[in-house]
Parts: sequence; structure tokens; C-alpha cells
Amino acid sequence: MNGRQRARLAASGLAGLRFDVPMREHCTFRAGGPAASLIDVQSVEELRRLLAVLAEEEIKFLVIGRGSNLLVADSGYSGAVIRLKGEFNALVVQERGPDFTMIKVGAGCALGKLVSWCGGQGLAGLEFLVGIPGSVGGAVRMNAGAWGCETGARLAAIELVDKTGHIRQIAAAELRLSYRKLALADGELGSGMITAAWFHLAADQPEQIRSRCAAYLERRKGKQPAGAASAGSFFKNPPDDFAGRLIEAAGLKGASCGAAMISPVHANFLVNSGGATAADILALAERAQAEVFARFGIRLEPEVKIIRDEA
Ligand SMILES: Cc1cc2nc3c(=O)[nH]c(=O)nc-3n(C[C@H](O)[C@H](O)[C@H](O)COP(=O)(O)OP(=O)(O)OC[C@H]3O[C@@H](n4cnc5c(N)ncnc54)[C@H](O)[C@@H]3O)c2cc1C
Repeated sequence: MNGRQRARLAASGLAGLRFDVPMREHCTFRAGGPAASLIDVQSVEELRRLLAVLAEEEIKFLVIGRGSNLLVADSGYSGAVIRLKGEFNALVVQERGPDFTMIKVGAGCALGKLVSWCGGQGLAGLEFLVGIPGSVGGAVRMNAGAWGCETGARLAAIELVDKTGHIRQIAAAELRLSYRKLALADGELGSGMITAAWFHLAADQPEQIRSRCAAYLERRKGKQPAGAASAGSFFKNPPDDFAGRLIEAAGLKGASCGAAMISPVHANFLVNSGGATAADILALAERAQAEVFARFGIRLEPEVKIIRDEA
């Protein structure tokens, strides 16, 4: 971002604007370089105002949620990183029918808040999201899933804002949902920002919902490294297999590169054991890919989104 672009952004009057923000403070990996700017927007009106400046100044941008599936290169990101706050955290019941209830949730809402709100409302269907440290926007974008369930299965529609600030509602039938991916029926999401999502849920007793959540959390405790800085599973599971099984079978559990380590608890979790750089993590990921390919002929593909400026 050049000086003129910075000055123009600074003059935009957006309260949530910061420059040269270390992204390691905003990603669960606790690693990665700075974003030239990070803007927390509170409303659609602010988002549109920001997008107008970004378009006028030709500043590239990226929307993120809670940074739990991201790794920013050590060299950083030279554009604007946008986070949806304020009114994008809203949760409302939109329609209560005899067989289902439709809720609308802002994309900035934390999954933990959504799950506990649903429990309190007696609304079942999203319990599997408990323990995933992302936002609604990130979960929809990634079609996050666990225990055989995926976000897309409960999705009724999304609200999408394009780079010109144009808002449209898109029904789930017009989306292409696949393993850890959401696309539009006619192409990729590109720079489109999900600002809200509608989910159809079922009625159940709050105690039943809470007890399913507690059981999922318990299962997570046994299988995943508790408290370690990571982005969850680093690689997608290949068809009919598990990335963690393959990495473990390649003898890499506990292997490290700098301060990045393949978790001894779950081999698909790359963890930052303290002060790892993005380069450490990427080198370790490449090692895992190379050894799994050499032994099993399977090319592991990262699930984690790697953010870097194009060369
Ligand atoms: C301990 C741990 C456990 C995890 N367990 C699971 C699990 O069981 N299942 C699973 O699927 N994932 C899991 N994850 C990964 C991660 O939490 C999910 O992918 C989550 O949905 C990402 O949400 P986020 O808000 O953090 O997205 P971010 O990491 O901030 O972003 C991820 C991607 O989504 C895009 N994005 C974010 N918000 C928006 C938006 N509003 N509009 C458009 N694009 C957007 C970003 O540009 C980026 O490409 C885990 C991660 C951790 C650290």
C-alpha cells in the first residue's frame, strides 16, 4: 500500500482502521507477518464506505473472521484486511414454522456464541460447531464440519456483498457446497463477502442440545491438542482416507521445523510451540506433503488458507 493509498484510507474517518497490524495477534496460529491495514467495520454502511475507498484507490482486500483457518506469510499482506464487527454479530429468529425455525446470523458472530444462543432458544442442528473457534462467515465460507455434519447442511441462504458494495441474497440451492468449500453456482466466491447467513433448525429441549454439545466437546478433548496454537487440521482429508493417519504413518508425529511441530496428539494439527514463524510452519507442511507423497503417492492439499502477496 503506497503513501497516497494510506493517506486516503486514513482520511476515510473509519474508527476501526489501523495500519501495520501484526496478523499473528489475530490468527489462532499466533504466527505471520503484518497487514498493511486492518479495518473493523461495524455496519453495512461503514463497509460500503470502505469498499468505495478501496475501489477508488485500487487497494486489494481480504475479509477474515476469527483467523482460525489462516496463515499470513511472514512478509505480510500489503492490502486491507477487513473484519465484520458490531451489527454483523446479530442473531435473530426470523420465522418459526411447525417443523423448522429459520434464524438469521451476522457473519461476524463467533460460533461459540451461536451454539450457546441456539441451546438457549431450544434450536437444534448446529451443535457440531461447538469447539470450532471461528466465525459464522468463516464457517460458511469453509463449509466447516465435524462429526459427520457440515455447516452447509443447515444453510438456507447467505447475504453477499460484492466489491462494489452491492448486496444480494443467495439461496442455498444456488450455492455449490463441497468439502471445506463454498462456491456460487456460476463461479467462485472471489472477493465476495458473506455478511449474514440463514439457517434452518429444528426444535429440541435446551438440556438435550446442551448435553450433545458437552459430548462433542469431550470427544474433541481426547483427540485434539488442547490449548496449542494451531489452525485446526492443516490439510484436507484425501478421499477415503485421513491426512492425520497418513502423516502419522509417515513417521512424522512430533517432527518439528523451528518452533513449528506436528502435534504428537493429532498428526494433522501443525502447532506453534512458541515463536514459530510462518516460514517454519510452511516448511513443516511441505515436509509432511513430500514424505506422504513419497510413501503413499497422495498429494495432501492444505485446508488452511495461506495469505501472501503475489510475487
Ligand atoms: C483448535 C481448532 C479446531 C478446529 N476444528 C475445526 C473443525 O472441527 N472443523 C472445521 O471445519 N474447521 C475447524 N477448524 C478450522 C476453523 O476454525 C474453521 O475453518 C472456521 O470455520 C474458520 O472460521 P474463521 O472465522 O476463523 O475464518 P478465517 O480463518 O478468518 O478465514 C478462513 C477463510 O474464510 C474467509 N472468510 C472469513 N470470513 C468470511 C466472510 N465473512 N466472507 C467471505 N469469506 C470469509 C477468509 O478470507 C479465509 O479464506 C479448527 C481450528 C482450530 C484452531
